[in-house]
Amino acid sequence: MLIVKKFGGSSVANKERIFNVARRCIEDYKKGHDVVVVLSAMGKTTDELLAKAKEINPNASKREMDMLLTTGEQVSVAMMAMAMQAMDVPAISLNAFQVKMNSSSRHGNARFKRIDSERITNELEARKIVIVTGFQGINKHEDYTTLGRGGSDTTAVALAAALHADKCEIYTDVDGVFTADPRIVPNARKLDEITYDEMLELATSGAKVLHNRSVEMAKKYGVQMVVRSSLNETEGTVVKEVVKMEKMLITGVASDKNTARISVIGVKDKPGTAFKIFHRLAKNNINIDIILQSVGREGTKDISFTVSQDDLQDALRVLEENKESLTIQEIKHNAKVAKVAIVGAGMMSNPGVASQMFEALYNYGININMISTSEIRITVLIDEKDVDRATLAIHEKFALGDV
Ligand code: ASP
Ligand code: MG
Repeated sequence: MLIVKKFGGSSVANKERIFNVARRCIEDYKKGHDVVVVLSAMGKTTDELLAKAKEINPNASKREMDMLLTTGEQVSVAMMAMAMQAMDVPAISLNAFQVKMNSSSRHGNARFKRIDSERITNELEARKIVIVTGFQGINKHEDYTTLGRGGSDTTAVALAAALHADKCEIYTDVDGVFTADPRIVPNARKLDEITYDEMLELATSGAKVLHNRSVEMAKKYGVQMVVRSSLNETEGTVVKEVVKMEKMLITGVASDKNTARISVIGVKDKPGTAFKIFHRLAKNNINIDIILQSVGREGTKDISFTVSQDDLQDALRVLEENKESLTIQEIKHNAKVAKVAIVGAGMMSNPGVASQMFEALYNYGININMISTSEIRITVLIDEKDVDRATLAIHEKFALGDV
């Protein structure tokens, strides 16, 4: 059996944890399995590197940022190989160049294009444990790229797909995927299983447990993933296409504070206005989330939308620079907003889920700014200060927790 095992930063944060991970990998190796390990940078390394870069140059180029950030993963894979060798197990660390993990060119948010399996396969045939850097790729200019924060999950799934692995295990510091963030909702319940679609909606709505693109890729290539703890032997949560019928209407609640709202006021109420605004933003690589357009008045209308807080300044600059051509009279923004979403395949066939969610918020006096829905998700935009209370209220309303 070929197993891909991915460990997050907290799972390799120090010497003891590195040896703990080494032991878990060696267990599988000694059973005769082929083991490929994907690692994140140790502990808070990536955050620290970001902070250091900011001290030197707050507008550092994205190429150099990737050059810097990829060092974090390189440290952890080398350390892990050393730990395994210290335990007399043959192991080798490889980076994106050595494996040849080709990605798109976009620094800081690259996507994998093609992954060579040859080098890894050869090392596995030589009965080594192969330890690969997560989070990084190489582009056509032979420069390092990174996949976006949390991207090591996507490295693991991409390798599992390329190597036709039998298992893809994502190890973290929690026991699996929960009905809500247990730090916010103490009685949140661990899920045994979740569908790709639900997991994708949760990850995109702010659940940090998996990188959303890893779920997208797992679905595309049919890679079954399991999310579990590196600190205990608990079973974890399986992410797959179909799950056994659960009676739950809602699978989970997620929230995201990394959101800001922008309103463009008094734009011309005629064909092409929305196209031009969002085309400008897209050209500048700014992702738009919820969009709300007001009913027109006297030939003008207002459009509000959300962007991630990281993109807020860029978005405001682009709009300001094109204010006239986009017929904008005024630009407003609010960074103190947050999204709360409920996700569940069960809501497709059950009317009234939205009203139940809104009732929960009403009962707690929480005002809704914007609403957006998909077949299996309802998202509301609310004041940032209300987000934890809202999560608790909704979780309670749908009785998602352990009793
Ligand atoms: N080290 C990177 C980050 O912190 C990638 C990862 O952890 O998956 O975002
Ligand atoms: Mg992660």
